[in-house]
Amino acid sequence: TTPLLEVEDLRVEFRTGDGVASVLNGVSYHVMAGETLAVLGESGSGKSVTAQTIMGILDMPPAVILGGEVRFHGEELLKAKPSRRMEVRGDGIAMIFQDALSALNPVFTVGFQIEEQLKVRRGMGKAEARKRAIELLDLVKIPNAKGRVRNYPHEFSGGMRQRAMIAMSLALDPELLIADEPTTALDVTVQAQIMDLLREIQRERDMGLILITHDLGVVAEVADRIAVMYAGRIVEQADVFSLFRNPAHPYTEALLQSLPRLDLKGQELKAIKGLPPSLANIPSGCPFHPRCPRAVDRCKQEVPDYHQLGGGRYSACHFAEELITHG
Ligand code: SF4
Ligand code: MG
Repeated sequence: TTPLLEVEDLRVEFRTGDGVASVLNGVSYHVMAGETLAVLGESGSGKSVTAQTIMGILDMPPAVILGGEVRFHGEELLKAKPSRRMEVRGDGIAMIFQDALSALNPVFTVGFQIEEQLKVRRGMGKAEARKRAIELLDLVKIPNAKGRVRNYPHEFSGGMRQRAMIAMSLALDPELLIADEPTTALDVTVQAQIMDLLREIQRERDMGLILITHDLGVVAEVADRIAVMYAGRIVEQADVFSLFRNPAHPYTEALLQSLPRLDLKGQELKAIKGLPPSLANIPSGCPFHPRCPRAVDRCKQEVPDYHQLGGGRYSACHFAEELITHG
């Protein structure tokens, strides 16, 4: 079966007066219908830029797409007409963001913002759109949806705003939802509720879900597969079970070690020694070598290939095979 979405060898640069930053250096992943792919990495690893490229909302300039493909149901989108991209947005692929407050327009009611999409894109009349907006707010478990539909974003709590944004993203029944750090700004209890909600909606609709996060705890519970990003590359891709049991890349290993308790949510991936590299000056050889406890001389010179490890799993480390054999 054709994946819902395939990203292949995506390469993006940011060009500014200060120079060139290689933000995506050949990113490939795919998502099937009904599947959750978690994209995990520290900030600046390219998780969000990949999502923005998929959505066609990358700011440019300074962003320059050097190459690669984004295929939705096999249809290439990067070279598609702007009108076609617009059609796919919302209808085919929708996105929710970390910060609902800036994603929602403060001067319009939440109901209006949902209804507007339904009027413009579905040709609904006022009454029908209102009815549907209330159903959507109900679906995301906003209490008293009938009354709440008339509220402005600032009248909602953080968690409720996030729910409202999810409702808005579902208005056109997308087949794929991209959630970029959807719970980062929320407290732990609300985070869990929002993740449960996303998972429930995804299952009911057999929707594909790309969950962008730096939170390993969230990933363990929700994802089917994980793509670990570092310096604009995917360094390991595996099913959740294999990755947690037996990481095939030292960066993944370090992430797992930085999380002493997997039941503890909201942990940041900060216990790893050193900082992510500047994308304007990516280290030679393996980009992880300055921080890698397993690095040898060879790592400074040779960029590791993708080692295929079976079952679609791969790792960009010279020692991938040894790692999964000996741990
Ligand atoms: Fe570490 Fe070398 Fe593997 Fe890179 S290739 S992750 S530096 S061991
Ligand atoms: Mg981000």
